[in-house]
Amino acid sequence: MRDTELYRQLLGLDSPWTVARVELDTKKQRVDVWAEHDRPVNWPCPECGSACGLHDHDEERTWRHLDSCQFQTHLHARVPRIRCPDHGVRQVRVPWAETRSGFTLLFERFAIDVLQETSIQGAATILGISWDEAHHLMARAVERGLARREHAPPRIMGIDEKAIAKGQRYVTMVNDLEEGVVLEVAEDRTKQSLLRCLGHFSFDDLAKVEAVAMDMWQPFVSTIRAVVEGADGKIVYDRFHIVAHMNEAVDKVRRGENRQLRSEGDDRLVGSKHMWLYAQENLPDRYAWNFWALRTSKLTTARAWAIKESLRALWNQPTLAAAVAWWRHWHYWATHSRLAPVKKVAAMVKSHLSNVLTYFTHNITNAGSEALNSVIQMLKKRAFGYRSFPNFRAAILFHCGGLDLYPATHPKA
Ligand SMILES: [Zn+2]
Repeated sequence: MRDTELYRQLLGLDSPWTVARVELDTKKQRVDVWAEHDRPVNWPCPECGSACGLHDHDEERTWRHLDSCQFQTHLHARVPRIRCPDHGVRQVRVPWAETRSGFTLLFERFAIDVLQETSIQGAATILGISWDEAHHLMARAVERGLARREHAPPRIMGIDEKAIAKGQRYVTMVNDLEEGVVLEVAEDRTKQSLLRCLGHFSFDDLAKVEAVAMDMWQPFVSTIRAVVEGADGKIVYDRFHIVAHMNEAVDKVRRGENRQLRSEGDDRLVGSKHMWLYAQENLPDRYAWNFWALRTSKLTTARAWAIKESLRALWNQPTLAAAVAWWRHWHYWATHSRLAPVKKVAAMVKSHLSNVLTYFTHNITNAGSEALNSVIQMLKKRAFGYRSFPNFRAAILFHCGGLDLYPATHPKA
């Protein structure tokens, strides 16, 4: 088989396209392939598809293709231009690449696979392209996926905010909790950022959302109440967020008590911060003995911790009625604890109680998006590498958006 025929088949070229010439440079470890077309032939207009005569040819362009036995392979062609009566002079679509891409479709598909497995830098190194090119490939894949995504609101929505860059900046995330995917990400954690995330849904769309798991974060709450019809019965203040607030309260109590104890020469609480923050069943064994001694002591922190652990049982109640009864006991205990940070959380939960207890109607938590958290955590660690928020957003949607990222191998002519 001649090398031109081999490459015609490798590239999947059909009439009118064929391979005219192949050059191999063993020093540069590079293969160059030139595609040509037969003539005369009519070409479909890229806008309207009507058959048009050839106008001229553009300057030669180059597309990076999959390597041939580790030789970088580049496809060259002069793309015909047609003159459409309605659209004027246009470059025709080529069958091996998407418009304006510098890579063949097969290369893009492969690059997407590589990018899914590693960082942008890692992929750039493997693929022999620049960081910018790798990122651009990723961003295009995301755009493609977003354009294809079914336009329907999630039945169960999760709203989350995440600190990035050491807590100095936040992002708002809207998730589809049933599918376990991120729908949109916006910078900041304000009304505007949430509206940006929801922007492509109409009020009618949003009325179809059946439940929303979220934190008691006022800008988000008022936004959801404003845009989601029937929000009162749909908002579920998320148990993970509520327990996180209690964890902060325990930590405040500990810090205060630690200061007090140390002034008396007692350093029992020094270095204990993390032990108090674990859910009891997750406490690593190495802390077990020390922590047992602390939590069974008469320390105020131990009392705050017990109240926190007890709150977690609210969501294990079998029925709404049982939860209400259980809540009354817990609330009495918390508000009589003489621990200001604990009382504060108790008051906050109480004032939001009806939408905490909607849990017993909808049975949802952001736990669904916890699965996404590990990926996002990893992306955050690399966040410094993303250079800008749009890059970070593209990476999140690329890895967690559940999108159809690949270019169609046979684009419409
Ligand atoms: Zn046209």
